[in-house]
Amino acid sequence: AAHPRFFNQLYGGLDEYSLGGCWLTETMNASLYTYEVSPVFSLMERVVIDKMLGKIGFEDGDAMFCPGGSISNMYALNIARYFKYPEVKKKGIKGIPDICAFTSEKCHYSIGKGVAFMGMGLDNLINVKTDANGKMIPEDLEKKILEAKAEGKTPYFVNATAGTTVFGAFDPIDEIADICQKYNLWMHVDGAWGGGALLSKTYSPLLKGVERADSMTWNPHKLMGVPQQCSLVFTKHKGLLEQCHSANASYLFQQDKFYDVSYDTGDKSIQCGRKNDVLKLWIMWKNKGDEGFERDIDNQFECAKYLAQLVQEREGFELMLEPQCTNVCFYYIPKRLRGLERTPEWWNEISKVGPKVKEGMMKAGSMMVGYQPDGDFVNFFRMIISNLDTVKSDMDFVVDEIDRLGKDL
Ligand SMILES: *Cc1c(COP(=O)(O)O)cnc(C)c1O
Repeated sequence: AAHPRFFNQLYGGLDEYSLGGCWLTETMNASLYTYEVSPVFSLMERVVIDKMLGKIGFEDGDAMFCPGGSISNMYALNIARYFKYPEVKKKGIKGIPDICAFTSEKCHYSIGKGVAFMGMGLDNLINVKTDANGKMIPEDLEKKILEAKAEGKTPYFVNATAGTTVFGAFDPIDEIADICQKYNLWMHVDGAWGGGALLSKTYSPLLKGVERADSMTWNPHKLMGVPQQCSLVFTKHKGLLEQCHSANASYLFQQDKFYDVSYDTGDKSIQCGRKNDVLKLWIMWKNKGDEGFERDIDNQFECAKYLAQLVQEREGFELMLEPQCTNVCFYYIPKRLRGLERTPEWWNEISKVGPKVKEGMMKAGSMMVGYQPDGDFVNFFRMIISNLDTVKSDMDFVVDEIDRLGKDL
């Protein structure tokens, strides 16, 4: 994955400072449940969490490092349910109404996994329609909320995605927040992918209104280029993570310690021992500063725009939509298929281009770019810029290489 032209998923590259942090993490082998066994890292977590809370615009709040964005989303689903129905911790789902959650049809699949894991059932995750850019349509959200109520369900949670996994779309957070406010629903922002945009003055408006959310997922291991795994769930409701998940194990979380036990953060988690995911992020931030992150994240967005421009200009390439995050989605049309009528057979031929070109790039070891179908779209390329060292000339290489591998197919 540290190949400079790995553009296959939402991570890539390698920052030397954070790699040093990783090695030190393994050397120290500390677990983050209590201050007594990892005092420095407990403090570090607090510093980094406060910093990120500030970037989100949560004036007060809490957060936790989680083993990935899928788990962070699951935490949000769970604390939201506990917030509304604290009795669920003792009585279980039989003791509460038939609750349902809403998310766009383009959201990450972890929302569905979370709903299933929590025993709510996938029938209680309601898909909201998206527009041509892949953004949630707020009017459809309101319609679906009213429909669910009419069916006797109890809406409790809305997920807005900031940077969808395939198209990189940002749901209209402000408008969704209005609806959540109107119906008194928990609002979560899944910014696993796009959260890093908050570090850029130019691109943070993509998440306008995020401070109105109740919780947010943000993966520094994606747009910020921190080594895997590094993900956090944030909430503006202080104390909720602990109330929802604590078991008060007396062998670990003794309340009569000589130090301030609020630094023992382990009971906020559904885990017992917890990996140190903060050092590599802290050390990277210390080195780059806010300015360094902003510069590199801006560069990623600029590379995406540059690639989109190349794709629009170059024969045989077709941009599907203007990039919103650093995802660039496009088709490549081999020579023999250019200028022909777009029948179902034609699209069937196009669907074979992605796998074939991918095979070519992998066998050549030149780069990796993903392809996938999505909804009504047959296989298309989804190029991801998530490596902080990516430069515009890499974009030239990507179109040249796809052209080289695909033109005679
Ligand atoms: C990647 C992603 C996730 C899941 O994050 P993991 O760390 O891979 O579990 C969740 N939501 C979105 C929008 C993502 O892009």
